[in-house]
Amino acid sequence: MLDGNSRQNLATFCQTWADPEVHRLMDECLDKNMIDKDEYPQTAEIEARCVRMLADLWNSPETADAMGCSTTGSSEAAMLGGLAMKWRWREKRRAMNKSADRPNLVCGPVQVCWHKFARYFDVELREIPMEKDRLIMSPEEAVARCDENTIGVAATLGVTFTCQYEPVEAVCRALDALHADSGLDIPVHVDAASGGFLAPFVDPDLVWDFRLPRVKSINASGHKFGLAPLGVGWVVWREARDLPEELIFRVNYLGGDMPTFALNFSRPGGQIISQYYNFLRLGREGYARLHGACYETAAYLGREIGRMDIFNVIYDGRGGIPAVTWSLAEGATPGCTLYDLSDRLRGRGWQAPAYSMPANRQDMVVMRALIRHGTSRDLADMLVADLRRCLDYFAKNPVLNPLGRREAGGYSHT
Ligand SMILES: *Cc1c(COP(=O)(O)O)cnc(C)c1O
Repeated sequence: MLDGNSRQNLATFCQTWADPEVHRLMDECLDKNMIDKDEYPQTAEIEARCVRMLADLWNSPETADAMGCSTTGSSEAAMLGGLAMKWRWREKRRAMNKSADRPNLVCGPVQVCWHKFARYFDVELREIPMEKDRLIMSPEEAVARCDENTIGVAATLGVTFTCQYEPVEAVCRALDALHADSGLDIPVHVDAASGGFLAPFVDPDLVWDFRLPRVKSINASGHKFGLAPLGVGWVVWREARDLPEELIFRVNYLGGDMPTFALNFSRPGGQIISQYYNFLRLGREGYARLHGACYETAAYLGREIGRMDIFNVIYDGRGGIPAVTWSLAEGATPGCTLYDLSDRLRGRGWQAPAYSMPANRQDMVVMRALIRHGTSRDLADMLVADLRRCLDYFAKNPVLNPLGRREAGGYSHT
């Protein structure tokens, strides 16, 4: 009862609206354990079909026998992609009779799952710091961090902090050049948690997927823009040989011979079935229309926020995820920080997070609003009206004096 209202949560990338059929499917699938492929062979078949559909969507050269699986979300999927890269790198090192004890992974500003991967599996994370207005990885910065111990480059299609896409194609080209110059052949994994279910539908000409031979694996969250209910992610490898055989376990204690290569074992099957339902019900055209509407709403919100002089729009919803990211304009004197503003918006139920950027832009504080299916233009209008109301309130009741210092008695989030 005391939890927030999920549709007003502009912080989450996860799906917070589902049609009645999905509710019904989830109910009917309550007892289905997706790992038990002997008892639930049709759920297994549906999972396999989803993998093939995703391999096709991401332009895999091996759609018919694509290698991949469902997971609990992108975090687990990213771990599997990372593990495969680590195993392949180690195999290569051993074949050359070279040490394989200091693996590293090169990435831009990543979601926390990659920090977990690096720590849990003993891989050095070489995270490219932000620099002035460059808030994502650049091909030059990525290549500069690669060496013989690099298991791969993880590029993000929809960066958590800004919602921008990293330039996967340019990064691959730069790695091609590195390969030609130095012999270092570095694979790329794309963390397409959000973008994997957006770009193929609304920006099909953007080349980021298996059309690039260097992209060996891709993960995406079914429960984000895949429109499935919470609890499903996907990972797909380019070719069967990109997933080392040692990572696949075969068990027969549920009856039948079952290959398994996820971290988890028992898991509900309803999310997978709902994912398939959405694929069939919406098709490419349906996903394109739903997401297209979100992009229009995001562009509208970006324009409205851009019209408020005290804000500086950092990402306006174009070329990445349907979302808006903004900071305070230089010299603006709203009488509050973005943290105060976020707090005040909470009074109307909105969760619009304020947060600081990672290295080297910790000085920059931003607010971000995701636009998902279920965030209508009407809802966006109400958010804009509430934003204006909050700003009026702080103009009349500042918690900061014009020098940006807190009045006595004010509180601080830091
Ligand atoms: C959300 C997200 C993740 C984690 O995904 P879950 O599905 O929540 O486990 C990883 N990477 C990126 C870029 C994300 O946006």
